[in-house]
Amino acid sequence: MTRKYLYTVLERVYRDVKPDLSDIEYLLGLENEEDMRILFKYAEYVTREYCGDAILLRGIIEFSSYCNNTCLYCGLNKYNKNLKRYRLNKKEIMDSVEQIVSVGIKTVVLQSGQDDELNIDEFTDLITEIKQTYDIAITLSLGEYEYELCREWQKAGADRYLLKIETSNKSLYESLHPEMSYEKRLHCSRNLKLLGYQLGSGCIVGLKNQTISSLAKDVLFFKKEDFDMVSVGLFIPHGKTALKNEPLGNLNLTLKMIAVTRIVTKNALMPATTSIGNIGNSDQRVLALNAGANVVMLNFTPKQYKELYSIYPPNGNINNNAREYLNILEKTAKKINRELDYSRGDSIKQKQKSHV
Ligand code: SF4
Repeated sequence: MTRKYLYTVLERVYRDVKPDLSDIEYLLGLENEEDMRILFKYAEYVTREYCGDAILLRGIIEFSSYCNNTCLYCGLNKYNKNLKRYRLNKKEIMDSVEQIVSVGIKTVVLQSGQDDELNIDEFTDLITEIKQTYDIAITLSLGEYEYELCREWQKAGADRYLLKIETSNKSLYESLHPEMSYEKRLHCSRNLKLLGYQLGSGCIVGLKNQTISSLAKDVLFFKKEDFDMVSVGLFIPHGKTALKNEPLGNLNLTLKMIAVTRIVTKNALMPATTSIGNIGNSDQRVLALNAGANVVMLNFTPKQYKELYSIYPPNGNINNNAREYLNILEKTAKKINRELDYSRGDSIKQKQKSHV
């Protein structure tokens, strides 16, 4: 195919309200270096056009590593009996929130596994207390919960929710999540949308038996569900999971997936995921920022617990000292002609809807 054809497809995918599956597959299948560079550059233009030059900052606290789920790719899944589990107490969480606020970040992400022993009342009170103490946004990433409970958390002050589908392909989802239900996940996601949460989804690139076509359908799924945030991660095999012998996900394919998702969804907020920073010899999240991502999460989990939140094995690339990493990020942002944004960084989609 000629370069002219590549530009034609890019324009078509950018303009069409319902992009053609084969066009998305074509873009995800690009292998020539220059073609990929053009794709990333195009996605960067779309990012600047719809989201501006800002890199939004989030502070994440991984407050519980207990999980009753079975995701085959994740080191926290319930079958990993060797892992020491932890659950932070309220003081530890509030201290971490204070650190996030002290560096100027205005979004806290409270993340855990599907922790069936979570004390619901205490957690709801925690949300209330954070909101009463600080003027910040709260994102929850806790797994699947009932509509009523999600409404309680929203009333207490939660603004956003992350519930990644990981793959929109039902049979692939079921093969990777024994004992879990694709329908239930989708139902929970749609409930969160109904409630008015700023809602995030996402996928993992490099899953066993995943195809280009399935990834292309994920992009269309993100568009159809109109998510406020979309996270594209990369599969990293974990030695204590059933997928330990599977190959590492492909970085270029992950970057292409970010770029195409950006071009199709336009203004979704998209993180440069830590999985991308966690491969190779250095933190490569800047590649994601250059291919359409516009959010970075900094980890404020207390030091003694970080290693235990073992979704995938860390390789030491990620600088876990948030203040040091912010300095590095400032320099990185300057180099790529972007700027760090310390505001709440709310959903661009919701802001636009409220102005209609
Ligand atoms: S991905 Fe989340 S829900 Fe699945 S096993 Fe890991 S922590 Fe649990």
